[in-house]
Amino acid sequence: MEAGCANEIGSLVTTRVVTCSYCGGRAKFVSGDVVYGRTGPWSSMAFWYCAPCKAWVGCHKRNSKYGFIGDEPLGRLADYELRRAKRILHSVFDPLWKRKWMPRGVAYKSLAKAMGIPVKDCHIGYFDLNQCREAYVAVNDIRMGLSRFDR
Ligand SMILES: [Zn+2]
Repeated sequence: MEAGCANEIGSLVTTRVVTCSYCGGRAKFVSGDVVYGRTGPWSSMAFWYCAPCKAWVGCHKRNSKYGFIGDEPLGRLADYELRRAKRILHSVFDPLWKRKWMPRGVAYKSLAKAMGIPVKDCHIGYFDLNQCREAYVAVNDIRMGLSRFDR
């Protein structure tokens, strides 16, 4: 069987079912080598991957919170366009808390409020393309609202 067809990476086997956000098919649990087609820093990282859609999502690191299989996805599967949108959104959102313009929790609360969604649902990893666009506008409004003394 070709690498990536079984839901296992080395000795890590998962029974978790993750569905592709695009085709509705079952995503495969694979190493980064399958996603990127070559070895690299991602070789030891786990992903959920749908080959026909060229969509994937990384996993939380193996630990006591997320389990030792490391199969807990960071969000929904994302295709090229969504991965790009999320990167752009992170580039405007993350400075809010990384540069300490506000605490991280406040940044997420402000974004959730602006988007009219509960804070518990405010995870960029779970946003679709429209939500990324909406969040991008909201984040710029939040940044515009910061006084120059905040930054
Ligand atoms: Zn798919």
